[in-house]
Amino acid sequence: MKFNKELDDIKVYEAGKPIELVVREFGVAPEEVVKLASNENPLGTSPRVAETIRAHADKAHLYPDDSMFELKEALSLRFDVREETLIIGAGSDQILEFVSRAKLHPGAKVLMSRVTFAMYEIYARQQGAEILRTPDWRHRPEEFLPLMKEHRPEVVYLCTPNNPTGDAMRREEIFEILDASDPETLVVVDGAYMEYAAAKDSDYAVTPREILEYPNALYLGTFSKAYGLGGMRVGYGIARPEIIRALMKLRPPFNITSLSLAAAIAACGDEEFVAQSVRLHQEQIDRYEAYAREHGFDYIESYTNFITWSFGEELNSSDLAEALLERGVIVRDLASYGLNALRITVGTPEQNDRLFAVMDEVLG
Ligand code: PMP
Repeated sequence: MKFNKELDDIKVYEAGKPIELVVREFGVAPEEVVKLASNENPLGTSPRVAETIRAHADKAHLYPDDSMFELKEALSLRFDVREETLIIGAGSDQILEFVSRAKLHPGAKVLMSRVTFAMYEIYARQQGAEILRTPDWRHRPEEFLPLMKEHRPEVVYLCTPNNPTGDAMRREEIFEILDASDPETLVVVDGAYMEYAAAKDSDYAVTPREILEYPNALYLGTFSKAYGLGGMRVGYGIARPEIIRALMKLRPPFNITSLSLAAAIAACGDEEFVAQSVRLHQEQIDRYEAYAREHGFDYIESYTNFITWSFGEELNSSDLAEALLERGVIVRDLASYGLNALRITVGTPEQNDRLFAVMDEVLG
C-alpha cells in the first residue's frame, strides 16, 4: 500500500524502554527494575495529586470540561499571564504537533540544534518541511542567527534546557535570538525542564511572561517532569492570543482526559512537591558527576533532571546500555543521536545506588 511520501524518511520515535520489557526479556523481577530512561520524577506523583485522581475515578464516564477553565485559571495565576495566552495539550508534545501543522508545509523550513528533542524533526517531516540544523550540539546564537537570516525559517526551536544533552542557554542568548527573529518566524522556547534550570542557576532560566514580550514566540511547559505526571499527559503553551487562536483550531475536543485535567489542577496546588523533587535531584546529581570524574569519562553540566555521560573510545554506549538493561537498569543510549553517550535520569538515592553498583559490575 502507498502512504504519503512524507512518511518515507520518518524514523519512529524511540521512547524509553518500559519496565515490562526488562521483566519479559531478562526475567528481572518488576520490583528490581530501575527505570532511569524517560526523565520521569523518581519521587512519583505527589500524594495529594494521586488522591485527586482516585477521587475522580467515578467521573470517568463524563467528558472533561473542554474549556479547561480551572486549569487555565491556575496556570494564569502561577505565571501571571492572561487566560487567552494559554493552550493545553496532551503533553507539550501535542502542542509541538499543533505548531508544525499550523506553520509547516512542503517548502517551509524549520531550524533546530544539531542534537535536540527528536519530535521536532518528526513533526516537521510529517508536514514535508525542510529541516535545518546548527553545526554544534549546543544552542549557540552565533550559529542560529546567520541561519535565521539566510533561510527565514517558519519555526525555530530553542530547547532550553535541552533534551538529550542537559545543557541550557543563558537568558541573554535566548533574548538575543528572539530580538533578532523575523516577525513571521515562530520561535518556540521549549521549557520542559525549566524548573530544574531555575533552581540551579537563574541566569539559565526564563519565565513564560518574559517570552510573552515577543509577539512571535511560544513558551512550552509540561507537567511530566518536575510535577510528576508523565503518565497523565498534560502540557501547556503560552503565547500571544493570535498564536493561541491559530493553535486552538488544530486541537481536537477533549484532548486531555478528565483524570489528567483534575491531576494537573491539583498539581498546581502542590508547589512543595515540585520544590522537594528539585531538591532531591540537586543532592543526587552530584553523585553522578563524581562517578564520571572517578571513572574518567565526561559529563555535560546538566540543567535538567537527567545527566548525560559521554565516553571516549574505551567505552561503547550501546554495549553499556545493553549490559545495564540485562541487569535490570534502564538508561537511554544516545547512539541514535550520533553520540557515544548515555542519558540517565537522576533517581532516588536507592535507585542511584543500584545504578552505580551495576556500573561497577559492568566496568569490572
Ligand atoms: N520537550 C522536551 C524537551 C522533552 O524532553 C519532552 C519529553 N521527553 C517533551 C517536550 C514532551 O513532554 P510531554 O509531552 O510529556 O509534555
